[in-house]
Amino acid sequence: MEEFDYGIIGGGPAGYTAGMMYAKCGKKVVLFEKNKLGGTCLNKGCIPTKSLLHSAEVYSSILNSSSIGIEFDNIRLDFSKVIEKKNQTVEKIRKSLELAVKNSGVKTVYAEACVKGKNLIIADNKEYNVKNIILATGSKPRKIKGLEFDGEFILSSDDILEMKNLPSSILIVGSGAIGIEWTRILSNFGVKVTIVELDEHLIPSADIEVSKRIERIFKQKKIQFYLNDCIENINNKIVTLKSGNIITPDKILVAVGREAICPDCECKAILGDACGEIQLAHYAIHQATSEALGIKFDKKLVPAVIYGEPEIAWVGEKEQDVDDSYSKSVLPITALGKAWCDDCTDGFIKIITKDNKIVGAHIISKEASSLIHILIAAIQNNISVKDLQKICFAHPTYAEGIFDLCLNS
Ligand SMILES: Cc1cc2nc3c(=O)[nH]c(=O)nc-3n(C[C@H](O)[C@H](O)[C@H](O)COP(=O)(O)OP(=O)(O)OC[C@H]3O[C@@H](n4cnc5c(N)ncnc54)[C@H](O)[C@@H]3O)c2cc1C
Repeated sequence: MEEFDYGIIGGGPAGYTAGMMYAKCGKKVVLFEKNKLGGTCLNKGCIPTKSLLHSAEVYSSILNSSSIGIEFDNIRLDFSKVIEKKNQTVEKIRKSLELAVKNSGVKTVYAEACVKGKNLIIADNKEYNVKNIILATGSKPRKIKGLEFDGEFILSSDDILEMKNLPSSILIVGSGAIGIEWTRILSNFGVKVTIVELDEHLIPSADIEVSKRIERIFKQKKIQFYLNDCIENINNKIVTLKSGNIITPDKILVAVGREAICPDCECKAILGDACGEIQLAHYAIHQATSEALGIKFDKKLVPAVIYGEPEIAWVGEKEQDVDDSYSKSVLPITALGKAWCDDCTDGFIKIITKDNKIVGAHIISKEASSLIHILIAAIQNNISVKDLQKICFAHPTYAEGIFDLCLNS
């Protein structure tokens, strides 16, 4: 029987990162993956959705380009090519990942793994003796009673990626990151999107001002949403909401979060989505790095990002969760020359401070997914608002908004 220092179950970001890091430290590692290397992130999540989003945004920009002096005739959307590009992107990245894992010395076994004891894993009828077991088994789309996935009318976030044609309309249940990103993908492709959200605001986990601004932006874009509401019943594809409103969508996407998949067994660590904490790829990666290399990170400073135009990103304290001893400063994106050049003026950069120290940051802007890291670095390293005033930011950039904001705080 082959013996290993580490047996890792799950080849998503948590599992492959831990595997490569342990191997780097000279450990003998076996990684089990029952499906495809890269897990949800690469195959059904982060990457395919961003590829679709890119195509959708280019399409929408072309449709709306006459205001910037670019005219097109006969604009045609070939959705099959959009899908092909998405698949090629995923495959290209997966090939690089497979090579990186192989080159790191990790042995990958493509089979469902089953833990049979503290030091024993069985996969494909073969036994693997491992000193340590790491569970990185991920998560699956959460179901709601009465809205069972059928892959045709009621879709999960996995099903929707298999779609060969665009629907004419869709009802999206839930307005977290997945719901909002699909809203942006589909509405940019011209699909009529309606959202139903149980909470009183869209993106319930965001700062209240972020939620309200996104609601305003969606209204301007004619994206309909029902708040404090849910599906009461579905009859012959006619959806009645609790509020009494009736919708007749082509499809329904259920985007109400993800459920951890975690075998009940003894192990050294549970990493990534499987531990049911923060279900984000970068959290999985950093948790795995921390476990394997001992590089610690602050869980409170894990950024949240929602992609699309404009991007949304935040970290730390939110306005609705702090008392009067905290202050807030907000810079509208209209203050930035670059935003006017790019025609992306809706949004803001907001910081929440206490005793001149930044404790929370909330951004709606083009490039928000990158900008947020400047503020994370400041929070983590106790860099004060006054310190940030001493940094020379380039002009014209979105980043200089952080300087302007700090100067006026
Ligand atoms: C639509 C969508 C968009 C997303 N977008 C983003 C984003 O933009 N940014 C972000 O940070 N996060 C995003 N996420 C979340 C991100 O995909 C997950 O947080 C991340 O994949 C978690 O990594 P993981 O390694 O813990 O689990 P997973 O990626 O789910 O990997 C787990 C792996 O374990 C395998 N496995 C399970 N059980 C066994 C077994 N018994 N034997 C062998 N193999 C097994 C599975 O096949 C799977 O490949 C998105 C998710 C979705 C659904």
